[in-house]
Amino acid sequence: MAHAAPAAGIEPLPNYVGGRWEPSSGRASLDVHNPALGTVIARTPMSTGADVDRAVAAATAAFAGWSETPPAARARTMFRFRALLEENFEELARLVTTEHGKTIDESRGSVRRGIECVEVACGAPSMLMGQSLENVAAGLDCVAFRQPVGVCAAIAPFNFPAMVPLWFLPFAVVCGNTFVVKPSEQVPLTLSRIFELLEACDLPPGVVNLVHGGREVVEAICDHPGIRAVSFVGSTPVARAVYERATRAGKRVQALGGAKNFVVVMPDADLDHAIATITESFYGCAGERCLAGSVLVPVGAVHGEARDRLVASARALRVGDGMDPATQMGPLISGRHRERVAGYIAKGISEGARLVLDGRATAAPERPDGYFLGPSVFDAVDPAMTIARDEIFGPVASVCPVGDLAGALEVMRAHPNANAASIFTSSGKSAREFAHRASSSMVGVNVGVAAPMAYFPFGGARDSFFGDLKVHGRDAFEFYTDRKVVTSRWY
Ligand code: NAD
Repeated sequence: MAHAAPAAGIEPLPNYVGGRWEPSSGRASLDVHNPALGTVIARTPMSTGADVDRAVAAATAAFAGWSETPPAARARTMFRFRALLEENFEELARLVTTEHGKTIDESRGSVRRGIECVEVACGAPSMLMGQSLENVAAGLDCVAFRQPVGVCAAIAPFNFPAMVPLWFLPFAVVCGNTFVVKPSEQVPLTLSRIFELLEACDLPPGVVNLVHGGREVVEAICDHPGIRAVSFVGSTPVARAVYERATRAGKRVQALGGAKNFVVVMPDADLDHAIATITESFYGCAGERCLAGSVLVPVGAVHGEARDRLVASARALRVGDGMDPATQMGPLISGRHRERVAGYIAKGISEGARLVLDGRATAAPERPDGYFLGPSVFDAVDPAMTIARDEIFGPVASVCPVGDLAGALEVMRAHPNANAASIFTSSGKSAREFAHRASSSMVGVNVGVAAPMAYFPFGGARDSFFGDLKVHGRDAFEFYTDRKVVTSRWY
């Protein structure tokens, strides 16, 4: 990160290993910024392979005892964890806004989604039940137990500092595994605070470990022979690399990648509902959401009205410091990312798309040093253009009109990412056709952000997901356990 402000006097954050806070062995550190203010608020240490070794050693030592702890006792620690998250809900939401920039309401929503994962994990004694069958042959009985897999690790992106780590930690731990997690180096504070809460949950030392850092930590996790399972969330190139490297090292891996989400508007859609919902989908979290709408696909005659109403609605959004309750869209994560998104706007113009709303001049007057970029809309976008292909991960909508629903489905299928897709329509037939044929595996019908709840599987397809078992819900209990089948005959 190339932000200039020096972080004099700010010590790098400690790691949490074997039940203790300890300094990272890495010499380098990165400044962490409040994106609304542009100020340095913390430093992330760039931990080393030696730090990962220490965390894995602690997790390995803890595994013997923790894996033998009865599921109901493990679940009880998650009930305590849930209560502490709830008690500290507002502080956690404020931390998310402070280090990420999203609005305080968006932060509250994301912490809530994280807590819901802990709630699902609390059901472990039921969810971990296996299968059994009497008399598979005369006098022969069979039972399949679920057993924890060992030391598991997770690597998180910057855009959901609380929620994404909580997609994994509660499930891994409640299944009897021990755990190592690396948050994004851009947003290390929220997870550090969550670990302080975990300290009060009576987990034995080494059950949960936190290692800050970047690429070196990720590669050490992929290669470490003591780690059995790796969960990754981030951009597609890194997800693919992590999947390949960690599976080559013999681990089970789930790697969630980037997205390019298409939102189809049929001529029979209720546009009042649709445009309000679509505006939230495209510009919520400043577009830094893996389920954010990115390409608007109006079908037939609705094109002009849908575009004009989206432009009006986007232009009206109040951009500013996410901590201000009146703000509707916060800053981007960093100055570098803002430049990258602005670069895509320039690219769209140069490739011939029509920029009908330009957010580049938008500023938040009371926050002159924040990383703000206003909402932008491109019309007449061809699906082959860079802005319709690349994940921009910012507040830029591309309007890509088509003639019919089949054409919309074709545009979506031609894109390598397949995370989420939505349709707005009042026709059950169109909705059913869309849900059945969409290439994405998270589909919304008159819903702009089709995020599955914590008890359903979450994850995309094709270049948006590498692996088979998805995140949270029953898949999490599958991912974090092995089946042992015992066949018995008693004489
Ligand atoms: P990123 O890929 O840059 O980083 C993700 C993690 O990988 C971070 O912890 C980072 O330290 C590490 N990392 C970065 N570069 C690496 C490298 N070369 N080698 C090894 N490790 C590396 O992603 P990001 O910018 O933090 O997050 C945004 C991305 O995450 C977007 O593409 C978004 O779509 C995706 N995302 C996907 C989902 C999903 O459910 N599919 C959810 C949230 C975010």
